[in-house]
Amino acid sequence: MSPVRRILVIGGGPAGLRAAEIASSSGCQVILCDQKRSVGRKFLVAGKSGLNLTHGQEREKFVRKYSAPTSFWERALDRFDNQDTIQWAADLGVETFQASSGRVFPKSLKGAPLLRRWIERLRAQGVDFRMNHRLQELSSGAALFENGEKIEADAIILALGGGSWPQTGSDGDWVALLQRQGIEVKPLASANSGWEVAWPEMLIPKIEGQPIKNVTVTANGIEAMGELMVTRYGLEGGPIYQLGAVLREMPQPRVSLDLKPSFTEERLVAKMESAKRNFLKEARIRWKLNEVSCLLLDHYAGPFDSAAELAQVVKGFQLPLTQARPLDEAISSAGGVSWDSLQELELKALPGVFVAGEMIDWEAPTGGYLLQGCLATGTLAAEAALAKLSS
Ligand SMILES: Cc1cc2nc3c(=O)[nH]c(=O)nc-3n(C[C@H](O)[C@H](O)[C@H](O)COP(=O)(O)OP(=O)(O)OC[C@H]3O[C@@H](n4cnc5c(N)ncnc54)[C@H](O)[C@@H]3O)c2cc1C
Repeated sequence: MSPVRRILVIGGGPAGLRAAEIASSSGCQVILCDQKRSVGRKFLVAGKSGLNLTHGQEREKFVRKYSAPTSFWERALDRFDNQDTIQWAADLGVETFQASSGRVFPKSLKGAPLLRRWIERLRAQGVDFRMNHRLQELSSGAALFENGEKIEADAIILALGGGSWPQTGSDGDWVALLQRQGIEVKPLASANSGWEVAWPEMLIPKIEGQPIKNVTVTANGIEAMGELMVTRYGLEGGPIYQLGAVLREMPQPRVSLDLKPSFTEERLVAKMESAKRNFLKEARIRWKLNEVSCLLLDHYAGPFDSAAELAQVVKGFQLPLTQARPLDEAISSAGGVSWDSLQELELKALPGVFVAGEMIDWEAPTGGYLLQGCLATGTLAAEAALAKLSS
């Protein structure tokens, strides 16, 4: 009889829990360590906004939501895709529903019941949870923790998360640890985050907290549609999150806002037919331009001498941005362990050590793609570790 193999999973977010689930179901001894007192803290934070588990989109569109390499994501989703996530939740007794946006949520819109049942399953499969274990040093067959404990294992799976919301445990401190081992890690950066705008002080009380609905935002030729929220420091909202990767590449980030995307410039001018002055005031009524848009247009581009001039600005309102909001408060992080340093999610520099989840260099928009990516890479990393152990 072959000896029982030991797999050590470090990091108890969705990627690590999923890796532990696969590894323990294959009969391996699994130890899961996390530096916090409990696992799944960011997962619970995600639960506060309903826990968008995945998206109902078909595969072809789904896979394109992830940053490169596409061939990897095709394989990862082959192993664990949105339908698998829905079935997996159902097996844990958590029914899901698909909203009209395509986003999939648990019917309870909560993360805690799912996490509780998931942990119960892992315990039943024999996973040995060791909390308050902060990884300090790593080698191919062993990990040393800050409390002095050294754990040896036949394979190690790291699922240490990104760098946002460090209070949940994902503090990104592992970056220096892996770099010391010669592993290339792309700098962690805010993803799915707001962007700052140097609003004039006097404008802030008038615009703060106002939504700009139904707007098309363009950065470097890439478009995103949806709703923006004006904040004291800048802009939040789906379109600006989606453009994060493009904006980060621009030396002087700026967006162009189409504040009336369903009308052409000509149509807007035609609607102003008899107006001879006070074009902005007229636009508020005739174009149904909201108050915050009027305030911004007036401040940055007014006064307007003709309907044509105003229509042109409304269709392409230029707004310079200063920087992304700090990583601490972003929903996720870009950057992480580079693809070049991996072979099938195994670190080339540390054979027998695999990585999963947000700590790898990928990003995706909100919409359930992040958790789906973590569950898929957790699955794949565990399968790669098991394949190596059995070969
Ligand atoms: C406000 C918010 C809302 C979100 N909502 C959604 C959503 O609705 N849908 C969606 O798809 N995604 C959402 N996300 C993103 C999603 O939660 C993350 O992408 C996901 O949790 C990442 O999983 P992970 O397993 O890779 O890492 P994490 O969940 O970050 O877990 C990493 C774990 O590693 C541990 N760790 C780190 N360093 C060490 C160390 N040195 N030693 C030991 N342990 C360590 C941490 O304590 C942590 O438990 C949201 C994120 C935020 C912040």
